[in-house]
Amino acid sequence: MNAEARKKALRTLFAPVADKLGYKFHPSEEDVDFLLEAEVSLEKRYGSPYCPCQALSKERAENMKIVCPCIPFHREHYDAMKRCWCGLFVHKDVTDPSKLKQIPPDKFKGPGKAG
Ligand code: SF4
Repeated sequence: MNAEARKKALRTLFAPVADKLGYKFHPSEEDVDFLLEAEVSLEKRYGSPYCPCQALSKERAENMKIVCPCIPFHREHYDAMKRCWCGLFVHKDVTDPSKLKQIPPDKFKGPGKAG
């Protein structure tokens, strides 16, 4: 499968998962395409569509927490930001993702304590 076809397939696979979690794809086609392209490269290299914005470790169990869409593993943190770490997904009610702030994981203390 070529990269374009795989990007399309990932999009189709991810959409219902994100939807169930209350998220949608970022409204910018360009951003979505860029991130999916990176995931396709990572998948080719490492076997899974890992997050393009989080570093892989040597621990397989840890790495499984950053296979896209990684929202279930970071639910409280992402819900507080209304976006996933990369911004590939945003909460369904978000119309302008540029207003959303990234909260570094070490600054996120838990629900209701963002920042
Ligand atoms: S942060 Fe976003 S793009 Fe990265 S793996 Fe998680 S859901 Fe996917």
